[in-house]
Amino acid sequence: MPKTRVALVTGAGTGIGRAIAFRLAQDGFNVAISDQLCNEPGLTTLVAEIRELGRKVVAVTADVSVEVEIQGMIQRTVEELGQLDVMVANAGVMRFKPFLETTSDDWQKIFAVNGLGTFLCYQYAAKQMIAQGHGGKIIGACSGSGKQAEPMMSAYSSSKFAIRGLTQATAVELGQYGIQVNAYAPGAIETPMIREIGEIVGDWEALKAQEVRKAPVGRFGIPEDISNLVSFLASDQSEFITGQTIPINGGRLCD
Ligand code: NAD
Repeated sequence: MPKTRVALVTGAGTGIGRAIAFRLAQDGFNVAISDQLCNEPGLTTLVAEIRELGRKVVAVTADVSVEVEIQGMIQRTVEELGQLDVMVANAGVMRFKPFLETTSDDWQKIFAVNGLGTFLCYQYAAKQMIAQGHGGKIIGACSGSGKQAEPMMSAYSSSKFAIRGLTQATAVELGQYGIQVNAYAPGAIETPMIREIGEIVGDWEALKAQEVRKAPVGRFGIPEDISNLVSFLASDQSEFITGQTIPINGGRLCD
């Protein structure tokens, strides 16, 4: 009997990562869910929900900007669930600030998580998948602002452009091992991250209405819009797709 496939999702305690982990469990994966320590309560409730689906689940706290913690996260996934078939490097941070007020500290923090963290998740997952010898899927979190820069997000946008480059570069090198690497590029999706922007601009409803006006489908995005795509990218159906960063934004045009 074939073994149940295993997915690992970072930033799974809330928002988009939570929806992805739950969806992959619904799809039949055993799931490792990871987040930083301060989001452990989010992991605990998700563990119970995934167990109710009859899937195996392991929760691992790890800071993706720390190399040994990523190594430990992948090691525990394999020890407890047997293998790693799908890596979703979803964890990310954002700063909503004018370029002229963005500090080197802001830049470094964003690049430590979005840049280095994604690079290390891709690399350690790829090493594990190559050792297993039967391919795999690596999926990253880019952003609409990793394709088309927007005001107030210079460091964040730059880090997401980096993820798009990393996704292409790794797809080219990992194809020979049967590993496909793709990323999702969400527009505005209702999660704690986007609500934080709402709080900074002071009018969440106005921000939402502005985004809805820009989207031909005429509604605001929800985490399940992203998990639907990740479900496909994690499946065998996506085998001929690699190196792509796919926009999911209600129809706003970008490359
Ligand atoms: P969120 O802020 O709601 O969740 C992000 C998750 O990442 C949290 O669980 C957080 O604890 C985790 N995280 C942050 N730093 C971490 C670290 N150092 N180590 C481990 N985990 C860490 O954000 P979200 O909206 O769910 O976003 C998920 C991903 O999608 C992010 O990469 C984000 O940049 C991207 N994205 C989101 C939107 C949106 O509109 N929500 C749009 C484009 C891209």
